[in-house]
Amino acid sequence: MQIIFRDPGVTIFQSALFQTNTTVIRTDDAVIVVDPALLPDEVLEIRRYVDTIRGKRHLSLIFTHSDYDHIAGYKAFNPDRVFMSKVMAENPDKEQALEAVRKFDDDFYITRPYPIQYPEGSFFVFRDGVQYRQGHTKMTFYQAPGHTADGMMVVIWQLGICIAGDYLSNIEFPFIYDSSNAYVETLEKLTLIHDRNWFTKLIPGHGDPSMTINEWLKRRTEALAYIFALRESIATKVPFDENSLWDRYPFKRSLQEEHRKNLALMTREYEQGLWTWDPDFSLDKFEEPFEMDNKNNLVFEADAEEE
Ligand SMILES: [Zn+2]
Repeated sequence: MQIIFRDPGVTIFQSALFQTNTTVIRTDDAVIVVDPALLPDEVLEIRRYVDTIRGKRHLSLIFTHSDYDHIAGYKAFNPDRVFMSKVMAENPDKEQALEAVRKFDDDFYITRPYPIQYPEGSFFVFRDGVQYRQGHTKMTFYQAPGHTADGMMVVIWQLGICIAGDYLSNIEFPFIYDSSNAYVETLEKLTLIHDRNWFTKLIPGHGDPSMTINEWLKRRTEALAYIFALRESIATKVPFDENSLWDRYPFKRSLQEEHRKNLALMTREYEQGLWTWDPDFSLDKFEEPFEMDNKNNLVFEADAEEE
């Protein structure tokens, strides 16, 4: 594991496996850990770091989604609060998520000095723009389906960062396990999230953080371009140019499998009429410049569900 970013408020730990990121936030009021991952020693090191900075602050855990690599470290912590989407809390197949952790641990002969449990939430994000305040620390949450159905993103206001879950990685094209329509909508929504919350840095679940707006906008365009190129290929039966992917993304031998899964899922979607292909389609409609003015004074209702 390495620390790939550190400033007074934010530390990003990156696992040796899958370049999985755990973000630890420290403000005057709160310590927040997002997606504690992945190997037991790495999780314990994050836990020790949190213990040293915690003091009397409230400790919150946030889960961006329920994929095994993002939930494996849950029980190493004693949080005051656990944030997740309502969809993640109501996952009908929690056992399957846990089995994925157990299978991973068995594959690599990993034992963990803490139990493997499905995260138990205390704050549930059930719609876009839900806010939570801890003292002066303000967070806004957005639902982010598409990669998985239970994804969510969070913006930490005074730090100007968005933690995006498994979107906008610089080392992965979209992995679509849920729905390509939902995936496109989530990518579309990012500019709105930006306009309402104003963040510059974006931290993906895997790979390098994006430190500028232009960088994450570029990743967003690339993700959309991938999805629409795959749609075009499925609808017109012109084979997808896979080599263009391997020029752009590393780890071909693993990512090929993800590309095949995307192809299978989106072919099923096409056969079910869930999207159609317009030969005149252009990505331009996604690139209209979005408003850059600071709208921090927008008022939201804080009507989130809390137990
Ligand atoms: Zn992941």
